[in-house]
Amino acid sequence: MERYEVAIIGAGMSGLAAGIRLAHFGKKVCIFERHYAPGGLNSFYSKEGRKYDVGLHAMTNFVKPGVKGTPLGKILRQLRISREELDLSEQVGSRIAFTDADLRFSNDFELLESEVERVFPREIDGFRGLAAEIRSYPDAKLDAPYLSARSVVRNWINDSLLEDMLFCPLMYYGSSTEDDMDFSQFVVMFRSIFLEGFARPLDGIRKMIRLLLDRYRKAGGIRRMNTGISKLETSDGRISRLILDDGKEVEAEIVISSAGLPETYRLIEGFENESAEDLEGKLSFTETISIFERQPADFGWGDDTIVFFNQGSEFEYRNSRETVDLRSGVICIPNNFEYGERSLDEGIVRVTCLANYDQWIGYEEDEYLNEKVRWNERIWQSASQFMPPSSLEYEKERIAWDMFTPKTVERYTWHARGAIYGSPSKMKDGTTEFDNLFVCGTDQGYLGIVGSMLSGIAMANQHVLRA
Ligand SMILES: Cc1cc2nc3c(=O)[nH]c(=O)nc-3n(C[C@H](O)[C@H](O)[C@H](O)COP(=O)(O)OP(=O)(O)OC[C@H]3O[C@@H](n4cnc5c(N)ncnc54)[C@H](O)[C@@H]3O)c2cc1C
Repeated sequence: MERYEVAIIGAGMSGLAAGIRLAHFGKKVCIFERHYAPGGLNSFYSKEGRKYDVGLHAMTNFVKPGVKGTPLGKILRQLRISREELDLSEQVGSRIAFTDADLRFSNDFELLESEVERVFPREIDGFRGLAAEIRSYPDAKLDAPYLSARSVVRNWINDSLLEDMLFCPLMYYGSSTEDDMDFSQFVVMFRSIFLEGFARPLDGIRKMIRLLLDRYRKAGGIRRMNTGISKLETSDGRISRLILDDGKEVEAEIVISSAGLPETYRLIEGFENESAEDLEGKLSFTETISIFERQPADFGWGDDTIVFFNQGSEFEYRNSRETVDLRSGVICIPNNFEYGERSLDEGIVRVTCLANYDQWIGYEEDEYLNEKVRWNERIWQSASQFMPPSSLEYEKERIAWDMFTPKTVERYTWHARGAIYGSPSKMKDGTTEFDNLFVCGTDQGYLGIVGSMLSGIAMANQHVLRA
């Protein structure tokens, strides 16, 4: 029987990062991935000869070289990746666009401050106070008990429109809970989006994944693709054996799972965890990707990298009642980063909206494809209210499109209900009810590309290397 010191479930960002750490320190480690492609929620695929990224809008947490003590610096150092290799280009600028107000922000926090002062002059002192509280929030408190972020923000901000405008990007990029979020998660997201910022490699997520795979292979890590874990056998409160999808058996001293908490519990034979269903995430999304021959800037749309939009003044972040919730969303234009002399070959516009898992999963195959066509059009129409008028002309030049739904996410990543941000309850210390089973990634509580890599590193350090 194959035996490893550590078995990792999943070759997404967190699993790969954990694997690199362990392989660097000479552990005999194997990553088991059910899909044929690495990357998990952040992957890539080809369709009709064109390469599409899954996931990546932007890497959050961007800071300029030399800024010390930040998440980006930490993951690069711990994974032994240089900034030059990653080749990040900064965003041009982003917007929070509600029907009644518009706030621009960039990787320079002063822009958001000046925008808040311009649009909400009475709130600027409160906003500065909130930012100061977030700046001084101790990292050690990031695993503190639940505290409503809304209640803390209301200590500083009186205008509910500004409150909702601040929550909109932070929830869309990292909340597994409806309407409100834990203050420690709010702090992580505020820092990563507003105080730090957005950047992207020209080649997209492929660049990051190739670097991770290269580091893992060179350090001696083993990777088994197309090889899912179908069962975890237990004895004496420990995982004693992993059963692969083809029925073969593997032993490991320690198991780290990035598959998600309820998804991992369901693998455990005979483990009656009645709460597995309660642990499932409630929020899922659709994303449309439109491809154009020309760049958005050719149509006078070169200023927006990411637009978080919302119709009206009240922002509702909850499981969509309709197939897709057209009232709010995120528009991302990968062309609008500071690439210098370089550029992407084609124009790309991605639009993400909240979506209803049960409706998407209920369609028959033909109906499903027709619904995709229908909603793709409707999503563009809704988002175009927050695009420049030229976007209507631009739309006529669309040469290709694709769309993914909660069903796609579940089919390719096995996340229950296609919930990208996983379970509403997180295991912040990564431990489970089994002594040698730990979770990393989404359900340990660190979301996004940088967050999930940080999680993989932290769980490997804490539960294997330091143990
Ligand atoms: C549309 C979309 C847009 C996003 N945009 C951004 C963005 O712009 N910026 C950002 O920072 N983040 C973004 N994210 C979020 C980010 O992609 C995720 O938070 C992050 O990739 C999660 O990584 P992970 O390792 O925790 O989980 P995953 O990527 O889900 O990795 C888990 C892996 O486990 C595998 N697996 C599951 N079950 C089994 C099993 N039984 N056996 C073997 N393997 C198994 C899965 O196939 C998967 O590869 C986006 C995500 C999506 C989907």
